[in-house]
Amino acid sequence: MVSSTNQNLKPLTTNINSKGNLEIGGCDLVCLAEKYGTPLYVIDEKTIRTICQDYKKAFANYPKTHMMYASKALCTSAIARILDSEGFGFDTVSGGEIYTVYKAGVDMSHVLFNGNNKSYDELELALDLGVGRISVDNFFELALLNEISKAKNKQVDVLLRITPGIECHTHEYIQTGHLDSKFGFDLTQIDEAVELILNEYKNIKLHGLHAHIGSQIFETSIYPDEIEILIKEIVRLDEKFGLKLDEINIGGGLGVKYTEKDMPPSTYEIGSLVSDKLHELVKKYGIEPPTLFIEPGRSIISTSGVTLYTIGSSKQVPNGKKYVAVDGGMADNPRPSMYQAEYFAQVANKKDTQENETVTIAGRYCESGDILIKDITLPQLNEGDILCVYNTGAYNYSMASNYNKVARAAMVLVNNSQSDIIINRETLEDLISHDEIPSRLEK
Ligand SMILES: *Cc1c(COP(=O)(O)O)cnc(C)c1O
Repeated sequence: MVSSTNQNLKPLTTNINSKGNLEIGGCDLVCLAEKYGTPLYVIDEKTIRTICQDYKKAFANYPKTHMMYASKALCTSAIARILDSEGFGFDTVSGGEIYTVYKAGVDMSHVLFNGNNKSYDELELALDLGVGRISVDNFFELALLNEISKAKNKQVDVLLRITPGIECHTHEYIQTGHLDSKFGFDLTQIDEAVELILNEYKNIKLHGLHAHIGSQIFETSIYPDEIEILIKEIVRLDEKFGLKLDEINIGGGLGVKYTEKDMPPSTYEIGSLVSDKLHELVKKYGIEPPTLFIEPGRSIISTSGVTLYTIGSSKQVPNGKKYVAVDGGMADNPRPSMYQAEYFAQVANKKDTQENETVTIAGRYCESGDILIKDITLPQLNEGDILCVYNTGAYNYSMASNYNKVARAAMVLVNNSQSDIIINRETLEDLISHDEIPSRLEK
């Protein structure tokens, strides 16, 4: 099977330059750290564009495929521009994400809005900006959406998010398709939802079904299993209600390689399994091939990103571990403390030095759980060295916080030896810019 970019541990352009430093996108990482400060998120444009190509080629056998980037993995204006230019639409999960892609100039008919508790204001914004599809998650939302679209005298185009009852072996918090998940309609509730749409909610037009099984998925069989469930439901709804649904959305979830032991499948394998299954079912049931939406997030953006940190203090526990602390941690990358996620790192300025010391990389935040990497063997680290943590493109910046009142890090996009800021580093002023002091506390 042809390999794809999500199977790499590092961005495609990672090299060691003549100074013995790591470089990405032709930019020396030590120079980037000096120029922009640390912690610094670095995103390699070539890696993003190559994985987009991998996806498009992988699904070429099923021409009715639409790629929707799950923007919650990393949603910035520049990233939206890149995905848009690759012909991707966007799966969004909040008013903030909808607004970001809108301001980036994305054609809003290529946007889908998804989520288990969308607010009135968010649904209104989605309708006002002309979002292409809303994936309705539950009965409450169905009623709310009909009310809003009726008030606006609009018809709203929807999918129903369903819970197909498929379990995948990923972390419990990132599984979504199992039966007692908080997301979507249970299979036994679909008929009631369809009856409401057909008989009462006249402003809602149902186009198809949507499911999403989970994230960081390594099992390829879940995709054909999921498609079988979705197509069978579509065939059943046609028989029972004469309803012609012609869209299925199979979600995202393809895994990436955080450490050497991770073996995520290739997009090409997923693409051929999915298109073979669809061709088989279309033939079996004698139906028109449905439009297929897929929504990869992590696998599009994770591999392209690294985070640079500066090494500060260290602590040798007598007869125990050696901790080496960096100037970031759980506020710029909450995944290790939240999901026990593992990461791989190298020292940007010592690539040709022997790796001979096993240390634990600690974050700077006031939590014992703020450990970025447990027991990694690296060259001896000294204060001022630059650590490069790989595969931080997805669910790092997008989950970042200001915990401990620390300013959020900057992000640069690198390509062809050029680096450009795409997120400015927050300033101390930014940190208090939303604070107010009530007049009775005046001094
Ligand atoms: C999170 C999410 C995705 C993307 O998942 P990845 O694992 O990042 O590919 C796609 N679809 C839906 C509905 C999601 O909630």
